[in-house]
Amino acid sequence: MLTCCLVLCLQAAPAQEKVDLPPQRILENVSTIKNLVGEKVEYDGYVNKAGIWVQVGTSTFSVVEEGASDKEIVLRASAKGGKFGYSLKALMESRLDPATCVPRTHTFTQSGSEQQDKRLLFENGRVLYVKKKHCRDPQCKNPAHMVKETTFWGPIPTGSKTVHCSHCQDRSHYVWLPRYTHEVDTAFLDMLTALFAARSAELKVGTSIVVPLVIDRDRWAITVTSQKEERIEVKAGKFTCVKVTLQPENVGDPERRTQEQFQGIFGLNGTINVWLDKETRLPVQISGSIPFAFMNLNCHVELRKIVTRSDAAKKARSVTAAVPQTAAGTADKAQ
Ligand SMILES: [Zn+2]
Ligand SMILES: [Zn+2]
Repeated sequence: MLTCCLVLCLQAAPAQEKVDLPPQRILENVSTIKNLVGEKVEYDGYVNKAGIWVQVGTSTFSVVEEGASDKEIVLRASAKGGKFGYSLKALMESRLDPATCVPRTHTFTQSGSEQQDKRLLFENGRVLYVKKKHCRDPQCKNPAHMVKETTFWGPIPTGSKTVHCSHCQDRSHYVWLPRYTHEVDTAFLDMLTALFAARSAELKVGTSIVVPLVIDRDRWAITVTSQKEERIEVKAGKFTCVKVTLQPENVGDPERRTQEQFQGIFGLNGTINVWLDKETRLPVQISGSIPFAFMNLNCHVELRKIVTRSDAAKKARSVTAAVPQTAAGTADKAQ
């Protein structure tokens, strides 16, 4: 398991005094995610192996509206790639309440060398963490979980009987099982929702915001500090960015606070730096490290292409581009 490897880069900070979370502030930011509907961007991911940057994968982030009547806002982040005998295909999806943009569910699906299906269900005052495990229900009658087992008379096979499979890798035998319930009296977000909510946060150099996250069975307070402005160039172009650093602190179960290591999006850990475009707060470049086959490799993710801007950004641009009154009139008619 990659997640079990010898990574020591960043241990969770020891338990300190009570963390002062600003839930109101974060919830205000969350509602602005609706302004990002229509946006789709692509990234390239690299790791540094023996001093050489090797491209290991690509990733696509998108914000869409889905559903017939009650249109949910859906945040998606997919990643695929592989190198050095390891392959990864992962999809992260958060489904948000269309009015408030507060998350309803967050699902992580991984296939390739490792398979995982995990989900967070946000309900009133609690977050339920469920994971797909091999079915072990002694009462289970699901025909899809049944396998043929050879019967013996002594050492001699006599035929076969149908039994419930006890353990295998066949994902069709896996069922969602509850793993942990977070009882929370303040707003906690999943990683993807938090990433998009941070897009509307103030980024004055020298200031910090605290983002409350739930990842599997842990809760984290991530202090995001704006360090400095930097002009950087990536495949998608040149951007004036604000460089922010992420400082995670485990604020979940006291006994887990010093054991669990923070793993950001797609397993990124260590000292995570993110360069956000000053104007749109789009992440332009991310650096950190990723656990990779018993090693921790430096990792670098950069914006390759803005496939589509958000509907709101496109509209704002078309309005600015034309004579104000005329443009506003046209936009109204178009709706
Ligand atoms: Zn079963
Ligand atoms: Zn099985």
